[in-house]
Amino acid sequence: MKACVAIPPIRDFYTTPHRLSGLGAHAVHQLLIKNGVQSVLLNFPAMSKKGTALPLPDELGYLKPFIMETEHGPISFFTGYRHFGPSFESCAGMIAGETPDMVFISCFAYAYAQEAVGLAAEIKRKIPDIMICAGGAGVTVSPGYFSESGKIDYILTGEAEISIPRFIRNLTAKRPGNAGIPEVYSARMHCSEQYKKEAVHTGPEDMEPATAITLETARHVHVSLTLSRGCWKSCRFCSNHLTHGREYRQLPKQIIDSIISNLPSGKKLLINLEDDNLLHDRKYFLSFLRKVHDSGRDALFSAENGLDYMLLDGPLVRELAGLGFRQFNLSLGSMDESILKRENRSAALAHLGDMTHAVHGLGLPSIVYFICGLEGDGPALTCETLLFLHRLPALTGISPYYAVPGIRGFEERGIFQGIPPRLCAGSSAWPWNGTMSTQELITAFRLARLVNFCKKKSLTAIEQELMDVIAATKNLHTIIKEKNSMAVVPVESADSSMTRYLLGRMFE
Ligand code: SF4
Repeated sequence: MKACVAIPPIRDFYTTPHRLSGLGAHAVHQLLIKNGVQSVLLNFPAMSKKGTALPLPDELGYLKPFIMETEHGPISFFTGYRHFGPSFESCAGMIAGETPDMVFISCFAYAYAQEAVGLAAEIKRKIPDIMICAGGAGVTVSPGYFSESGKIDYILTGEAEISIPRFIRNLTAKRPGNAGIPEVYSARMHCSEQYKKEAVHTGPEDMEPATAITLETARHVHVSLTLSRGCWKSCRFCSNHLTHGREYRQLPKQIIDSIISNLPSGKKLLINLEDDNLLHDRKYFLSFLRKVHDSGRDALFSAENGLDYMLLDGPLVRELAGLGFRQFNLSLGSMDESILKRENRSAALAHLGDMTHAVHGLGLPSIVYFICGLEGDGPALTCETLLFLHRLPALTGISPYYAVPGIRGFEERGIFQGIPPRLCAGSSAWPWNGTMSTQELITAFRLARLVNFCKKKSLTAIEQELMDVIAATKNLHTIIKEKNSMAVVPVESADSSMTRYLLGRMFE
């Protein structure tokens, strides 16, 4: 049997190399090979990292008033929608060229479900009799959406280590792929139906290690990998447990050793650890970092999904920096106690301040991420958060809240019926909780960029003009590109009370 594992193109305003790592698809590819299936992995978004311009989809039409197509520079919002990867037709052609018996479409986030179904439709058009399976976190949270499309034969939910071996055994024995596997669906489900039972998760010994090279230049290799799965915490806004459960599991020592021995050598490695809770087992994590160094690799590390600053302390910051941590992404969530309580989170703002100072003292950057638009949030609190972050020696990362089917408050899948999955992307700035409007979310996004702009060390002439105008008028401005020049213009679509309040305090 031959399989093609495909990561569909994605459509969004932007993407980043680490989002395109496709670790889940890499794991499926390895599992298929281990189970006797010849497999080819096609990571389509990684084939055109800059993407091609697309008209704004109709369902995002509400964003039109906020998009300035010629906008540029430090305060800008997104300027255009893009398709990352070859056209669906070309992707289907490449898949057909591999002459597979079946295709596994990997959907790592529900926000990209439309693209997964779009690719499946094009494959069915080109190869009508092909078996198409879909899996991944995006599928697990709402299998009904994929089933209802009518383009997918088997829907694999939960972790691939559970479903793939049994699925392949069924096919080899000429049984229906889903026979006796509750995690695999074949019958047509309604969109509002959901994953019917609590997912069964792999034990540490069975976890398929996944490593991906996301970028290679003359001197650097960017690698993404994960050492653990699952998180026992239950932050209300998080969807991690829907696929990976709440039990924390880490790769056994012998697998870690084999990952390290297979890391590329000869170039500087920039390793992004995609784990959700890296600091939970500090000893294990530090031992991994030391082993990479002891292997002779020249490696720097980052953790794009963030580090829990509550688990950091001064000596640990120094040790991580000494072992090659090049940037500290710290997740604040919210600074409001009542919101945090509702979200099952806690905060220690003084400690966060201390940790950013500790990182800064070592000459390294840190970014503090907060979520905007949570239940109980509002424009005033967002402005206070931005003022707090303005005073820290760290950059601000803002994540507009987005819903995912199955997270707390959105357990009922029927809510999502008729709502395009694309709205479940942070970049869509959809007011899911009704606590902040799209206008306020986008204003907060620009203001977060202004907070970072104020920390920029050297400014170009046009940036200096922008800063002077903002400080003098206390009104949000941005840079636009004109024919052969640039100009500073007001952001007419910004929420005036948020900008007046925040700029009044920042430039008082
Ligand atoms: S947000 Fe992070 S800490 Fe909270 S449950 Fe999700 S993975 Fe765990």
